[in-house]
Amino acid sequence: MPIQKLYINGEWVESTSRKKREIINPFNQEVIATATEGNEQDVKAAILTARNTFDQSGWKNTTAHERGKLLYKIASLIERDQEELARLETLNTGKTLIESEADMVDIAEVFRYFAGLADKNGGEVIESPIPNSFSRVVREPIGVTALILPWNYPLLQAAWKIAPALAAGNTIVLKPSEITPLTTVKITELIEESGVPKGVYNLVLGAGNVVGQVMADSPLVDFISFTGGIETGKNIMTSATGNLKKIALELGGKNPNIVFADSDLETAVDQALNAVYFHAGQVCSAGARLLVEAEIHDWFVEQLVERIKRIKLGDGFDKDTQSGPMISAAQREKVEKYVEIGKKEGAKLLVGGKRPEDPELEKGFFYLPTIFGECTADMRIVQEEIFGPVLTIERFTSEEEVIALANDTIYGLAGAVWTKDIEKAERVTSQLRMGTVWINDFHPYFAQAPWGGYKQSGIGRELGKTGLEEYTELKHIYQNTKPEPINWFK
Ligand code: NAD
Repeated sequence: MPIQKLYINGEWVESTSRKKREIINPFNQEVIATATEGNEQDVKAAILTARNTFDQSGWKNTTAHERGKLLYKIASLIERDQEELARLETLNTGKTLIESEADMVDIAEVFRYFAGLADKNGGEVIESPIPNSFSRVVREPIGVTALILPWNYPLLQAAWKIAPALAAGNTIVLKPSEITPLTTVKITELIEESGVPKGVYNLVLGAGNVVGQVMADSPLVDFISFTGGIETGKNIMTSATGNLKKIALELGGKNPNIVFADSDLETAVDQALNAVYFHAGQVCSAGARLLVEAEIHDWFVEQLVERIKRIKLGDGFDKDTQSGPMISAAQREKVEKYVEIGKKEGAKLLVGGKRPEDPELEKGFFYLPTIFGECTADMRIVQEEIFGPVLTIERFTSEEEVIALANDTIYGLAGAVWTKDIEKAERVTSQLRMGTVWINDFHPYFAQAPWGGYKQSGIGRELGKTGLEEYTELKHIYQNTKPEPINWFK
C-alpha cells in the first residue's frame, strides 16, 4: 500500500518531520500500511490554508444547491468504491466485513441526507415590532472547522462531520485517529475527485497530543467537532477557551439496557447480545449495562451465558466470524484491568474474563465476551466506560428503582427499554436522561435523527437537521425601509 500522506491545499504531501507511523492489522499485528506522521508545522499549515480559503476564496459564497450537488457526487463515489472502502475498514479495525459493508451504505446515506438538506437550511423572516423595517435571520457557515475522530467507526464518524461541514459552506481540517487513518485517506481521494475546490478540505494524520492539540488551541479555528473519550473531550473544551471557539463533543457512554419481565424475552435476549458485543463492545452506544427485572433475572442470565459461548471470534474477512478482535493491545489491557477490578469489587464472573485459548487467534487482540452478574450501582465496572466486550448485569424490582439505576452514571448517551406495555415504556423513557432511547430495539441510528448525549456524554448533536445547524452561525439582518433622522441629539 502506498504511503498514506497528508492532504493540504489540494496537494498530497509528506510531513515536514519525515516521520512515519506503522499501521497495524489488529487481527494479526501485521503492518498493513505506513502513514506520514503530521507534526505541529503541518497542522498549522493546514489550518492556515483552511483559514485563507474560507476568508478569501469564493467557497463560502457558493450556493447551497451547488454544495449539495458536490455531496451527491461524493455519495456516488463512495458507492462506486464501497467494496474497497469496506475492506480497508476491516483491515484496519478488525471488525467483520459485513459490519464494514453496512457502515459504507450508511456513509453514502449520510452524504445524501446532507446533500438534500443543504438548500433547505434557510433562515426566517421575523415580524419586526418596528414600523417600516424588514427583519430576517440567515444561517451562514461558521468558518474553519477542525474535525477530530476516534478509531471505532473511522469513516462513519468522518462522514457525520464532513458532510454537514461542507453542506454549510465551511472549510475543514480533519484528523483521524492515528491508528485508523486508511479509510479517511481513501475518502479524501474521493473528495478530491468530486471537485471540492482546493484548500476547502484538508487532512492531517498524526498523534492526538500533537496534531489534535494544535487544532484545539489554534486561534484560527472557529469550531471544533470532536468524537472520542471523555478526558480528551474535557481537555479540548479547556483548550478551546483560548479563542472561545464553538465546540461539539460526542463522548462516551455506559448505556443501560432495561428488560422488564413482560417483554418479548426471546428477542430481548438476542438483542442484549447484539447491544453489547457488536464490534467487540467498542461502540459508544453499546448496551454494556443490563438491568433485568427480578422475576425473569435468572432465566435471562442463563440464556445469555449459553448464547455468548457460541459467539465465533475470528478474522473479520472470514464470513463465519461474528466478532473480530479489539483494536489494540492497549485497549485490551484496559479491558483486562477492568475485569480484575470487577472481580475485586465482588461482581460474579459468569463467563469469559480472559483471552481466548484458540492458537489461531493468538496474534490478534482478542478478548472473550464476558459477563459479570450480581453487579451493583456503586461498582466501577458499572459506572465507567470499559469499551470492550464486557457486560454487567443488575437486577431490579420496580419502575422507580430501574429509572434511578439507569440514570445513575455520569453518562447520558443512549439506552433501551424492553416491555410490551407501551404506557410503561413511555413513562420510563420520559424519565431517562439520554440523547437516544430505543423502545423494544437497540442500536438503530440514521442520518435523519439527531445523535448525541446528555450529561457528560457530550455537547451538541450530530445528524438530523441539528447536525447541519451546528455548522452554522445565525445572523439577524435588520433593514430600515424608510430611514429618517431620529433627532435624539438636537
Ligand atoms: P480518544 O479520546 O483517545 O481519541 C479520539 C481522538 O482524539 C483521536 O483522534 C486522538 O488522536 C485525539 N486526541 C487525543 N488527544 C488529544 C488532544 N490532547 N487534543 C486533541 N485531540 C486529541 O478516543 P478513542 O479511544 O479514539 O475513541 C474511543 C472513545 O470515543 C470512547 O470513549 C467512545 O465512547 C467515544 N466515541 C463516542 C461516540 C459518540 O457518538 N458519542 C462515537 C464513537 C466513539
